[in-house]
Amino acid sequence: MTTRKPIIAGNWKMNLNHFEAILLVRKLAEHLNAAQLDAVETVVLPPFTDLRSVQAAVEDDKLNIKFGAQDVSQHVSGAYTGEISGGMLAKLGCSYVVIGHSERREYHNETDELINAKIKAAFAAGLTPIFCVGEGLSVREESAHVGHCTAQVDAGLDGLKEDQIKQIVIAYEPVWAIGTGKTATPDDAQEVCGAIRARLAEKFGADVADAVRIQYGGSVKAGNIASIMAQPDVDGALVGGAALDAEGFASIVRFP
Ligand code: PEP
Repeated sequence: MTTRKPIIAGNWKMNLNHFEAILLVRKLAEHLNAAQLDAVETVVLPPFTDLRSVQAAVEDDKLNIKFGAQDVSQHVSGAYTGEISGGMLAKLGCSYVVIGHSERREYHNETDELINAKIKAAFAAGLTPIFCVGEGLSVREESAHVGHCTAQVDAGLDGLKEDQIKQIVIAYEPVWAIGTGKTATPDDAQEVCGAIRARLAEKFGADVADAVRIQYGGSVKAGNIASIMAQPDVDGALVGGAALDAEGFASIVRFP
């Protein structure tokens, strides 16, 4: 059985200018010692405009913190006004990119097909996708959440190679728990994360399923991280609001 390294990623969403970004990343590093940063892969996901500054802070201070973007174009280059390519992100030192966040699905009408194309574009540029899936409240109320999420996983991973699937990070984020203060219970998180892993095993084999890291996201904070991380199929967290405070985010990273 593979040992999956926990991964805690902070999605800053559309918050913090590049000066504030530098301060936050430096403060975060001050709150975490080398052993803590070694035990848990720690990732920040600032807005595009902060990436160059975060890269400089991380490289200048030799911080053991990874960073990435919140979205990527499915295209390589060309006449796509306002878009940012995977190659541009890779050149800035990004390791990760969030793809298919529920806010992009909802406010930018991102479809499963587009998300699949963006995942392929990210891999082509050498980035690791943090691929988000999750159900809205009405789907949960109909108890259709497991099938909904595994169908999103199927669509997002369509046509990927085995080594890419092993590398991807999947974030299960129930939409009703994002930014609402309503956290799924640890059992709720395990139910869907476990079903995603079972689906991966069914389609790609136990070896692949065993390697994939699956995060939970939705109102994660210092007070609930340990019980969520205690679930066997939860390998990390995607954190929104609580990632904007250095000490708060550090205390999530220090969960073990
Ligand atoms: C998110 O946006 O991915 C998220 C999980 O947000 P929050 O932690 O604020 O619920």
